[in-house]
Amino acid sequence: MHVATATVGPFQENSWLIVDPSAHRAVFVDPGDEPEVLLALLEQSGATLDAIWLTHAHLDHIGGIAGVRRRWPVPVLMHPLDQPLFERGASQAARYGIPFEQPDPVDGELSEGMRLTVGALAFDVLHVPGHAPGHVIFVGEGAIFGGDLLFAGSIGRTDLPGCDPEAMQRSLERMATLPPELAVHPGHGPSTTIGEELRSNPFLNGVARVKRA
Ligand SMILES: [Zn+2]
Ligand SMILES: [Zn+2]
Repeated sequence: MHVATATVGPFQENSWLIVDPSAHRAVFVDPGDEPEVLLALLEQSGATLDAIWLTHAHLDHIGGIAGVRRRWPVPVLMHPLDQPLFERGASQAARYGIPFEQPDPVDGELSEGMRLTVGALAFDVLHVPGHAPGHVIFVGEGAIFGGDLLFAGSIGRTDLPGCDPEAMQRSLERMATLPPELAVHPGHGPSTTIGEELRSNPFLNGVARVKRA
C-alpha cells in the first residue's frame, strides 16, 4: 500500500489517497477541499481513481468532491445516516463564509461490516457514530483511515449538531480494542497508532480502563 496525503482548506483537513501501486488503482478518503492539489497527488501516484470513500459528511471532508469528480467521475460512498449533513454542506459553508462547491448526491451506501477493495488492498468498514451519526472508519492493510473519531492526543468534537457524546464513548471503546500496532490516519493533525494513543491519550486509555474494569 502507498498512502499519500494533503492537508487542505480552512479547516486543515487531511485528505488521504490510498494506492495499490502494483495494480495502479487508488481511492480518495475524504477529499475535503482544494481539488487541484488532490488531483496533483493522484497524478503523481500514476494510479487510476476507482472511488471516493467518506468517513463522514462534515463540509471540511466533502468540499473537494465536485472538483475531483469533474476529472474522475467515480462513485462516492457514504453511510446514509450522514445524508442530512451532506445536504447541508453548502449552507454550512455559507454560514462560515467560505467558498464551497456542493457535490452531487452520493452513489452508494457504506454500512458496518462491508469490505471495500482497491486493487488487491482490502478494508473493513466500521460504523463508529458519535462525532457524526454516519461516521465510519476504514480498517485494513495495517492502518485505519479514521476521520474525526480519534486524533493524536485528542478526539473529534461532540458538541456540534448531530453529535452524540454517548455514542462517541462506545465508538472509542471499540477503537481501544483494535490491535495497537495499527496506524491511525486521522482527518486532522498527525498520524499516530492505536498503541501510542492507548499510552498517551486520556480519551482513549480512559475508555480502555473502563472496558477492562
Ligand atoms: Zn467532522
Ligand atoms: Zn473534520
